[in-house]
Amino acid sequence: MKTIYLASGNAHKLNELQTALDLAGLSVRVCGPNEAGGMPEVEETGSTFEANSLLKAYGLREVGPLDAWYLADDSGIEIDALDGRPGVISARYAGLECDDEANNDKVLREMDGIPEDERNCRFRCVLALVGDRVEKTFSGACEGILLRERKGAGGFGYDPLFQPLESQSTFAEISLDEKAKISHRARALTKLISWLKQQDV
Ligand code: IMP
Repeated sequence: MKTIYLASGNAHKLNELQTALDLAGLSVRVCGPNEAGGMPEVEETGSTFEANSLLKAYGLREVGPLDAWYLADDSGIEIDALDGRPGVISARYAGLECDDEANNDKVLREMDGIPEDERNCRFRCVLALVGDRVEKTFSGACEGILLRERKGAGGFGYDPLFQPLESQSTFAEISLDEKAKISHRARALTKLISWLKQQDV
């Protein structure tokens, strides 16, 4: 059985990945970073989601067994009218110590006065898988519109401002199951799974 070490201490992400791989019939055991030796401090200095996800995956590989695989993700929201910002700095857009509220406030301020047909944006997620002679990235996107005000109380991050093209509701209003069908993360994961299936895992 192949082992994938996930470069994230988020237990929810680990369970979600293990469940998706099990459902796909793949023989893979997902382990957290502590089982590889502990997640080292990795500075996300890349200017793309690809670069930052690779930095995190290689960061964990440095402390773990060389023959295993390492998976990391990086995600964020790109707003066309802001030339793609917040992009890779989505988590800290309003400053290093900021929270979701401050990030959303900053985006709303910057998008003030921008007309309806110029409010296109997308969530993007890149998963990076590295290992012995393996370096792959899998990208998923979910296109939508950046609303003028928050709608909905669920979700996290920019969810209350993001209305996917597929829906009249924001990510903060739809169920986790619905989000899992169309989200950027789910789409990247689907690509990872089909690649793993081709490798006869
Ligand atoms: P990370 O890749 O999990 O560190 O996420 C980066 C940042 O992008 C988060 O802190 C959020 O601000 C934003 N983000 C990524 N995915 C989502 C999402 O599904 N909903 C809302 N915000 C998201």
